[in-house]
Amino acid sequence: MTPFFDGHNDLLLKMTLRGVTAEDVRDGHGKGQIDLPRARAGGLGGGFFALFVPTPGAPGLNMAAMRQESYDLPLPPEVDQPTAMAGVREGITHFNRLAELGVITPCTTAAQVEEALHGPTLAAVLHMEGAEAIGPDLAELDELYAAGLRSIGPVWSRSTIFGHGVPFRFPSTSDIGPGLTEAGKALVRDCNRRRIMIDLSHLNMKGLEDVAAISDAPLVATHSNAWVVTPSARCLTDDELRIIAATGGVVGINYGTCFLRPDGRFISDCPVDYLLRHLDHLLSIMGEDGVAFGSDFDGAILPNWMKDVSGLAPLRDALVAHGIGEALMEKLLWRNWMRVLRETLGGVAGRRMDRVRG
Ligand code: ZN
Repeated sequence: MTPFFDGHNDLLLKMTLRGVTAEDVRDGHGKGQIDLPRARAGGLGGGFFALFVPTPGAPGLNMAAMRQESYDLPLPPEVDQPTAMAGVREGITHFNRLAELGVITPCTTAAQVEEALHGPTLAAVLHMEGAEAIGPDLAELDELYAAGLRSIGPVWSRSTIFGHGVPFRFPSTSDIGPGLTEAGKALVRDCNRRRIMIDLSHLNMKGLEDVAAISDAPLVATHSNAWVVTPSARCLTDDELRIIAATGGVVGINYGTCFLRPDGRFISDCPVDYLLRHLDHLLSIMGEDGVAFGSDFDGAILPNWMKDVSGLAPLRDALVAHGIGEALMEKLLWRNWMRVLRETLGGVAGRRMDRVRG
C-alpha cells in the first residue's frame, strides 16, 4: 500500500494538553486523531510533527464562532521567548519518547525519511509552528537544530518578532498587514544556510512574498488549501499558489473542514467532494509535482467520513474513484514531499541549481 507522508500534525501538542503518553500513542487511545494502530490502519507512513506553544492563560479558539456564516476570531496575545522555549522543550521530550518506544523514527535527511516511510515506525520530521522560542539573535537555533528541528513556520497566526500571520477570518484574503521583520528575513537566511525548511502556511501574503524573495529553497505551505474554493484568510490565492509553483514548491492539502467547506464553517459535515475540488484546483495551478497532503491531525475538526488518521483509507479510495492513477497517487501521497525534502534538507542542490539545470 502506498504510504502517506503528511505535511502537518499536532500530536505533540495533544500529548501536552491532554496528557496523552507515548505509550498511549504506541498502544492506541481514544483521546485524539492519531495513534500508531490507527496510523497503520490508514496507511500513514510519516510526516512533519509540529511543536506548538499555546498562549498561557488564553482560551482556545472559539469553535462555536467558526460554525457561523462569517467570523473573525481575535488572536491570542504573543508568547514570550522563555515560555515558548519551555513549551518547545516539552514537545521535544514527547518526540524523543515516541522514538524510544519505536513509534517514530526521527529523520533529519530525506534519505532517512524514505527508508523509514516504508518501515514499521512513522518517519518523523520535527517542525516548529511559530518561532517564538527563537530570540532576535537566532541563538536558540543551535539547540533546536541539534534536537533535530528541520522545519520552521516563522509565525503561527499570532504575531512574532519575525512577522505576522493570518487570522481565523472568513471570508477574507491573506493580504493582511506587513511582511517579515528584519529579524524574520535573517531567520529565513539562517534557515536556508542550515537547510531548515520554511513553512508558509500561517504567514500573510506579504510575508509569503518576502520569503519568496529571500529563500533559495522550494517554497512550501505544509497545510493550506485553495482560496478560490474556500475564501478563508488561511487559504492560498491563485497568485500565492503561482509564486510557490514557480519555485518547484509544494502545497499540502489540509483536512480541517473550515478550510475544505466552501462556506468556511468548522463542522464535520464535509463531503469528500469538497476535498477533491481543492485537489483539482491545486493541480490545475501547481501541476502534478506541486500538490501533497498536510492533514492537521490533532489540530482540526475533520470530515465525518474521515474521523481520524484511519480515515486515510477511505481518502485513498476516493482518490482512486476520482481517477487518480498510480503514478500521480505516489506523487500526491509521498513523492512530492520527498523531492522537496531532498532539495531542502540536503543531499542535492536547491532550487537555483535546478533552474540552471532547467
Ligand atoms: Zn497550523
